Amino acid sequence: MDKYLVIGNPIEHSKSPFIHQSFASSTNQTLAYEKKKVELDQFETFIQNFQRIGGKGCNITVPFKERAFAIAQELTPRAKAAGAVNTLSFTDDGTIIGDNTDGQGLVEDLLRQRITIRDKRVLIIGAGGAARGCILPLLEQLPSSITVTNRTFEKAQQLVSEFDSSQLSCSELSSLTNEFDLIINSTSASLSNKLPDIESRVIASATCCYDMAYGNEPTCFLRWADELGVQKTIDGLGMLVGQAAESFRIWRNVYPEVASVLVELRAQLT
Ligand code: NDP
Repeated sequence: MDKYLVIGNPIEHSKSPFIHQSFASSTNQTLAYEKKKVELDQFETFIQNFQRIGGKGCNITVPFKERAFAIAQELTPRAKAAGAVNTLSFTDDGTIIGDNTDGQGLVEDLLRQRITIRDKRVLIIGAGGAARGCILPLLEQLPSSITVTNRTFEKAQQLVSEFDSSQLSCSELSSLTNEFDLIINSTSASLSNKLPDIESRVIASATCCYDMAYGNEPTCFLRWADELGVQKTIDGLGMLVGQAAESFRIWRNVYPEVASVLVELRAQLT
């Protein structure tokens, strides 16, 4: 049976085994997908051993995405742009291919929820790994602009400088003057129930606010956006399922049905 893993540290709360087993069952595929906590100094050895025993692929999560990028012998353009890998595939000739499906998962989720990106003004709050991973897939949707803002402004400047696009720019949190159609919170602030230090009027200008974080209730960022009258607020659960679906497609050459898995996961959260 083909074997897959999600690797991270910690990994206990990972929903990936449930998601991939659901995909396997809905597409009539037989495979094994498990989660594995790997010690910080064991990542590379673990990957080599898993490949040696016939593993077909891995999802990679915190804190190993950059090390997965380094271990890959071939990288997709979106993995290169992200500087991080969340999907490793082991080919029959022994090549390790690295991809990053996080940004695609975000875009798929937005489109599934009928949020148009084309010709829209997009604001990304945050300049960490998740922001880096979603810039190329978002640019491919031809927004009119993407502005990146971040608590540590130098990181936003650095991130924007890595892409050759006239649609992309950065701005300090305190000096955002534009109005935006779509605002994506890619900071980890919601995980500690904090809001990015941004003026209410900027948030209120959006028609949709998206938070990559998710939980059993709306994040503080999405509650804030709701209170400010933003029409649509979306959390990152669909992005999670979307990135998994894209990994599954890479490995199994079939795109699984996402909506029913999302409903089941949502029910598990509440
Ligand atoms: P990183 O650690 O790489 O980046 C964290 C970012 O959050 C930085 O820009 C940091 O700013 C900012 N930040 C942290 N705390 C605050 C705060 N209190 N106020 C303002 N900004 C803050 O994390 P990732 O980019 O990997 O992940 C970010 C979020 O995205 C997490 O919540 C993660 O769970 C989520 N995520 C969700 C996925 C999904 O499938 N739904 C997939 C991947 C990520 P600074 O540079 O100033 O430190």
